[in-house]
Amino acid sequence: MARRAKVEEADLFSFAAKEEPKKVTKKAVTRKKADQAKKKVASKKSKLVEEVPKKTAAELWDVKWKEFAITHPTQEIKDQMKDEMVKEGFTKREANRVFKGLFFKEKVCNTQQQAREYLEEIPTSYAVKYKIGIPPSPQMVSLARRLQEKKEKLVSYQKAQNEKKFSGDFISCMHCKSKVNAAYVKPPLCPVCGMDMRSDHVVETLGSLEKAVADLSKRYEDTARKYNSKFTGGEQWIIRLVNPFKSN
Ligand SMILES: [Zn+2]
Repeated sequence: MARRAKVEEADLFSFAAKEEPKKVTKKAVTRKKADQAKKKVASKKSKLVEEVPKKTAAELWDVKWKEFAITHPTQEIKDQMKDEMVKEGFTKREANRVFKGLFFKEKVCNTQQQAREYLEEIPTSYAVKYKIGIPPSPQMVSLARRLQEKKEKLVSYQKAQNEKKFSGDFISCMHCKSKVNAAYVKPPLCPVCGMDMRSDHVVETLGSLEKAVADLSKRYEDTARKYNSKFTGGEQWIIRLVNPFKSN
């Protein structure tokens, strides 16, 4: 928190530094050289307009999820994914590197969430199946409804509180009592003391709503896994692609 506040404080001051006019003029540059430079920039600009530069593999996504019906042969799935990746900016060779380790494992998870958790443990691209098309049990339907209600409550409370707290020209901090120009506030943190600018009551209410959502999500997922494990339904491939060129 303290570190964050420092960074934001620094932002306030760097703002002023940026505004300072440039004093240095490059007299040494001859007119000819300047003209050449201008031409270079112009040609570069027109190139940018003509063809939107493709992103490189390192600039693209780090992880991507794909799903396919099991009626597709795995080679066809790979070809289709490769075409998409080449369109995004990968070279074919790079796309092959993304596929390194990609294995279509004949493992059927009970839910999509279970499959995702399994795949997230694997460092390379990988594929498993999960069950689809099983009608939910009455308990699952009830949990899903309660989960949906809590989610809506959380979102509307969050929205209402943000409008109340962060919509004015000046925002007051509950902790250090500063009144800060809204332009310098990145909600919910105070740029002066680094603490949450909302009241403890609001933060607690949000926290308990978030916890209720998390608890219900987990209960739903546990129930669904147990229930689906008793059935064989349809199946679907889920693939997690990992981009090894992404540095972070
Ligand atoms: Zn403060």
